[in-house]
Amino acid sequence: MIPDIDLICPTCAAPLKLTAGSACCDEGHIFPIENGLPILIDDEKSVFSQSDFQSVSDTFFVQPQTRARTVARKLVGKFLPDILLNLTAKKNYAQLATLLKQRSEPKILIVGCGDRARWMEEFVSHSCFNFVETDVSFGPRVQIICDGHDLPFADETFDAVVTQGVLEHVADSDRVVENIHRVLKKDGMVFADSPFLVPGHFAPYDFRRFTIVGHRRLFRSFTLISEGMSFGPAASLTWTMKEFAIALTPTRNGKAIAGFMVHILFFWIKYFDYILINNRDAFDAASGFYFMGTKSEKTLTDKQIVAFYPRK
Ligand SMILES: [Zn+2]
Repeated sequence: MIPDIDLICPTCAAPLKLTAGSACCDEGHIFPIENGLPILIDDEKSVFSQSDFQSVSDTFFVQPQTRARTVARKLVGKFLPDILLNLTAKKNYAQLATLLKQRSEPKILIVGCGDRARWMEEFVSHSCFNFVETDVSFGPRVQIICDGHDLPFADETFDAVVTQGVLEHVADSDRVVENIHRVLKKDGMVFADSPFLVPGHFAPYDFRRFTIVGHRRLFRSFTLISEGMSFGPAASLTWTMKEFAIALTPTRNGKAIAGFMVHILFFWIKYFDYILINNRDAFDAASGFYFMGTKSEKTLTDKQIVAFYPRK
């Protein structure tokens, strides 16, 4: 179901009206609705095109081609031990939920809800929150297909924006965060979780990684609530071992077995991250960092940002 919020045209920012078969603005820009979802993509500005969604081709996520592969993927996801451990997602989503419960009928935008809202399952189950879930692929949770560079929402719409494992995949992360800032209400909050030392993934949509200082600079127009390591060095190590094993193996089936074996043999390494969670030395090899903050009218200078993280 399409949520009751003010949409704007991703091309010209004029108000956007939804009809049964399309969405259009007063300037004459028309966007299709496919599978019940508005495809609010500007073909000129985005790396994606409306036609990608009209033909239901693979965009960000690669959809399994057969039912057998769909079942196999679900079984692997359920029973294969994970090599990654998000140390702080549960605590951070609980804190965000507590802050949002102080507001009346809060609206929350998820930029990149993914195919299964991983790590945020409990947060999205809050029935007292109004979620707007977006992505650049079809998926079971997606309500609107849109590009984070040109979010199709009116200024100051949301109480919070969540973006997890997304900002490394966008061409211009500064522009995406500027859009997040724009669609947040005056005291709106952002929660972002982004990778540092992790191998490439979702190629070709893989543009960068963030140190904790680089991540803070990205959110320089926000007042800090909390930040820290979300995935530790053990996650960096095991994921790199997996890609090392895959790279050494020549055949496609062999690569699948090599990756599988790293999960089976080395999944336990991730538990070392519990020991390292507050260790500042571990930040230099962390697998990811989170940032939670409130929209600010002021922007930190680079000098202020650097001064906040003294030399070790
Ligand atoms: Zn328009």
